[in-house]
Amino acid sequence: MTSPVLWSAQAHMPSVIGRQIKVVSADGAYLTTDTGARLLDGTASLWYANIGHGREEMAQVAYEQMKTLEAYHVFGRYTNDRAIELSEKLQSIAPIDDAKVILNSGGSDSIDVALKLARRYWNHVGRADKTIIISREHSYHGLHAYGTSVAGLDFNREGYGTDSLVDGTERVEKHDAGAFAAAIERIGADKIAAYIAEPVMGTGGVHPPQPGYFQEIQRLCHENDILFIADEVITGFGRTGVMFASTRYQLQPDIVTFAKGVTSGYAALGGILVAPRVWWPFFENGTGSPTYRHGTTYSGHPVTAALALKNLEILERERLVARSAALEQVLAAELKTLETHDLVKATRVGGFLGGIELSDEVNAEFVTDKMIEQGFITRPLRGNSIQISPPFILTDQELRDLVGAISTVLDSLK
Ligand code: PLP
Repeated sequence: MTSPVLWSAQAHMPSVIGRQIKVVSADGAYLTTDTGARLLDGTASLWYANIGHGREEMAQVAYEQMKTLEAYHVFGRYTNDRAIELSEKLQSIAPIDDAKVILNSGGSDSIDVALKLARRYWNHVGRADKTIIISREHSYHGLHAYGTSVAGLDFNREGYGTDSLVDGTERVEKHDAGAFAAAIERIGADKIAAYIAEPVMGTGGVHPPQPGYFQEIQRLCHENDILFIADEVITGFGRTGVMFASTRYQLQPDIVTFAKGVTSGYAALGGILVAPRVWWPFFENGTGSPTYRHGTTYSGHPVTAALALKNLEILERERLVARSAALEQVLAAELKTLETHDLVKATRVGGFLGGIELSDEVNAEFVTDKMIEQGFITRPLRGNSIQISPPFILTDQELRDLVGAISTVLDSLK
C-alpha cells in the first residue's frame, strides 16, 4: 500500500491507510463515495452543512461574484460591497447590540483574533497585566496555537514541549462556576483578560450548560472586569433553534466567535462580533485610538461573503432555524428511548446536536465504523460519545432512521 501524499487532519496516518472514505459528491443530506455508497450525513460534516449539500444557487452566487470581483483584501483603506453587506447583516442578527464585525477564514482564526483582541483591549485601556485567558475542561477551540493552548482536550496539547503553546491560559471544571470563582481568587482578577466557553460544548462530548451556570459565570465576569467570550463556531446560525445560542441561554458576550454555519461550509469563512465596550477605543478616540494589528489575506473575501449572505437568505427563506428547533424535539425524544439500551450510559441534547455516551464495554469509534456499513455517518467524540448534528433539512423519518440504526448496531454488539 503506497503512503498517501495528503496528510489528513487529526489522523493517525498508519491507521487510515487503506481505510479512507473518498467522498465524490454530495446533495442535500447525503454523500456519495467512490464505491457508490450513499451515506446520510448525520454530523453535517464537521457540524456545518446546515442548509445541506450541493445547492445550485450557492454555486451560482459564487460564479457571479467571481465574475465581478473574485478577491481583494480589506487591509487599511480597502473594502468591498459584499464584506460590508455581510457585516451589516451579521450586525442585524447578532446577540450583541451595535456589534462590529471582523471577518477571517475559519473558527481557529476567530479564536486567535478574539483572544488577541481581549488582551489588546486591556493593554490599551491601561491594564496591561490582564492577559490570562480562562477556559473550560473538555472545551475545544480549534487548533491554531491559541486555540490549542486554551482548549481543554489534553491530547491536543501533547508533544509540543510545554503544556501550552501560548502563555497565560488556565482551565476550570466545565460545569462548576465555583471553580471559576476559585481561579479568580487564586490568579487575581487584575491578571485575567477573558473567559471563553462554547455555549453548548461540542467536541468535548456535547454538553449543554447546566441551569444557572452561565448566569453565575457572567456575574463573576462582570464583578471582576473579565471579558466574556462565547465561542459560537458550532452553535451560531441556528444549531440551537435560534440564530445564536447566546440568545437561547441569555448570554451577554463581549465577543462572539463564529465560522462553520455562517456559510454552511460553502466557503471557508469565520469571524467575530465585538461589543461596543471593546470596539469603542479602537474606533472613536481619534489619534488616541490604537490600531488592532490583526488581519489575514482572506479577511473580507468577497466570494466567501457573498456565499454567507446567500446562506443566511436560505436559512431565513426556508425557515430552517425553526426547523432546527423542531428537529431538536424529535432528536430529544429518540435519544430518550435510546437511553434505555444496555450499552448506552447517557444521552445529551443541546439544540439540534446530540451526544450519546456509550458504556465502557463498547467503543464509540467501532460503533461509528459500523454505522457507515448501515449507511449513516456519525462521529466519535471525547468520552466514548457519538455525535449527531445533521443538516437542518433532514426529515423526521430520516432522523428516526439514523437513531434507529445506532440502536441496531448496539443490539448487534450485545
Ligand atoms: N471553536 C469550536 C467550538 C469548534 O467546534 C471549532 C471546530 O470544530 C473551532 C473553534 C475551530 O474551527 P475551525 O476548524 O474552522 O478552525
